Amino acid sequence: MTVKKLTYLLTLVLSCFACKTVDPTPQIILQTTTIQKPKNIVLMIGDGMGLSQVSAAIYNQKTPTHISNFPVVGYQKTHSFDNLITDSAAGATAIATGQKTRNNVVGLDTSYQSHQSILEEAEEIGLGTGIVTTDAITGATPASFYAHQKLRIMFEHIAEDLLKSGIDFFVGGGKTYFDNREDERNLHAALEDKGYIISDFIQEELSRINLNHYSKFGYFSANKKPLPKNRGRTYLPLASKMGVEFLDRYNEAGFFLVIEGAQIDWACHANQPRYFLDEIKDFDNAIGEVLKFAVRDKETLVIVTGDHETGGMAINPASKLKKLKLEFTLRDHTATMIPVYAYGPKAELFNGIYENTAIYHKMREALELERLSSSK
Ligand SMILES: [Zn+2]
Repeated sequence: MTVKKLTYLLTLVLSCFACKTVDPTPQIILQTTTIQKPKNIVLMIGDGMGLSQVSAAIYNQKTPTHISNFPVVGYQKTHSFDNLITDSAAGATAIATGQKTRNNVVGLDTSYQSHQSILEEAEEIGLGTGIVTTDAITGATPASFYAHQKLRIMFEHIAEDLLKSGIDFFVGGGKTYFDNREDERNLHAALEDKGYIISDFIQEELSRINLNHYSKFGYFSANKKPLPKNRGRTYLPLASKMGVEFLDRYNEAGFFLVIEGAQIDWACHANQPRYFLDEIKDFDNAIGEVLKFAVRDKETLVIVTGDHETGGMAINPASKLKKLKLEFTLRDHTATMIPVYAYGPKAELFNGIYENTAIYHKMREALELERLSSSK
């Protein structure tokens, strides 16, 4: 074997170590905290994740899930302004801005007035902000936290809103809406002009990036939609870990991070149990990474919820106790209430049954933004 060949093989072996993703965390012991006010909030949204989805995840796993570990549980009602069945845009807009709006609308109320989101308010008072998603970064759920557009499909306009947002850390698909646009603007370059280090799936694996000396970071995981977990996507738990650690390092005042497990919804729309179980397990591993940080940090409020249920999932009788028979009643969303899980300072605010818009107000109350805005 030539030296050249040996070097090549050695590089291959080493690169496989380097591209390792984070190992799943065993269930963590959640200490109760005596700290009264959270410095950080991590809001985790399992898109399409209703109680059946959570139940299936818990029954399916041999080891305890992270989601079953939360001390506080509430329920949210998800209907949009004029429809018992919400879509992701109206659902996330309610959570992000406290406004019930029409389906397909992002960050605007029913008369198309713009409302600042909790992420934008956090940014305004000097907190670090971030978004991690397994959808395009311009998808309806993440977009509701930084964009204000009449239709969720206005991806290029939504991308422009991201440029204006000041978000410090983002990971998601949708590269094409930034650098291959109909208006031929190059938002990739515009982001770099604003001080971002931007990278993508073509240039390098997320796991190879060292974030030690960056202050604003964006990573595109796909041109449009990222891959499903079972076809090779590996980044959700890793990006969640990177997100909390990056924002914690650069933001003395604290941070607000949104993490979306988007493809729980896609799998349920497609009525595919195996795809769904892989996605919710991946999301649960991301929850593990966030809880690991929160236990260490003690000043982080972690909230896990969904925006609506998808598929009308039922857990039906199966031949064996341990075998799951998941079936779906439709290929769309349903109106069932959605569980809300919370841990950390002010977690108790999330007890009870309330509208999805209340989540926005509870997060503001936790950060004491109510007091700030009334003294303005
Ligand atoms: Zn949704």
